[in-house]
Amino acid sequence: MLVLKNVDVFYGRVHAVRRVSLHVNQGEIVALIGGNGAGKTTLLTTISGLLRARGGSLGFEGRDITRERPERIVSAGISQVPERRLVFKPMTVADNLLLGAYHRYSLKNKTLISKDVDQIYEMFPVLGQRRDQPAGNLSGGEQQMLAIGRALMAKPRMLLLDEPGMGLAPALSQMIFRHVAELRDVFGLTVLLVEQNAKSALKIADRGYVLETGRIILQGPSEELLLNRDVQRAYLGRD
Ligand code: ATP
Repeated sequence: MLVLKNVDVFYGRVHAVRRVSLHVNQGEIVALIGGNGAGKTTLLTTISGLLRARGGSLGFEGRDITRERPERIVSAGISQVPERRLVFKPMTVADNLLLGAYHRYSLKNKTLISKDVDQIYEMFPVLGQRRDQPAGNLSGGEQQMLAIGRALMAKPRMLLLDEPGMGLAPALSQMIFRHVAELRDVFGLTVLLVEQNAKSALKIADRGYVLETGRIILQGPSEELLLNRDVQRAYLGRD
């Protein structure tokens, strides 16, 4: 579904992603793990078109998206849930969700979009209860649910999730991971998940890639990575 071939990304002279090749099949959850500064966020942001690859190619559902603009990538079916959630704090929960459907908006679609909002409230009842409150009043976990809900409002077929468990208490983080698994199992979404908490990510993922200083150094089924000595030593120290 998503195929990256020899992708290179730079910030000026900083070579942040080095000849990365990876693929995500339809219906898979794939985890991208690695330490601080490994290039995980850079890679996700390149897929969503906000950064440009200097070399290599990116394809989605058979279409070349290497030079596609971000809004076209959203329309093509890829939605990113950014690191630190980045909800619009002064705006209400409901308006944050509506913004996720921005590119779908038309008078004709209005009823459909409000039905989609109701579906998000069904999935995350706490968002429904607080629909008229500013998003900034929500807790970290609730803001994460909102960020996921906002991404779902774009009706993606593939979700790019950047550290959904970051800064959350372990129980809350586990709950978010359960929701991610449900998005695949119930709604058939394909997920590329970036996480520093490798154990949680690999537990719900089918496969994983390990990124170190911009390069993929290891890849395989999640069960194999969970048992790999190097992965255990470097990334599985915490829960
Ligand atoms: P973290 O888990 O800490 O978010 P990461 O794996 O997501 O790390 P990136 O944020 O993608 O890593 O960073 C990869 C490399 O690119 C790092 O060396 C980082 O310092 C550098 N980098 C990231 N953003 C910029 C930027 N805007 N300008 C210059 N260098 C950057």
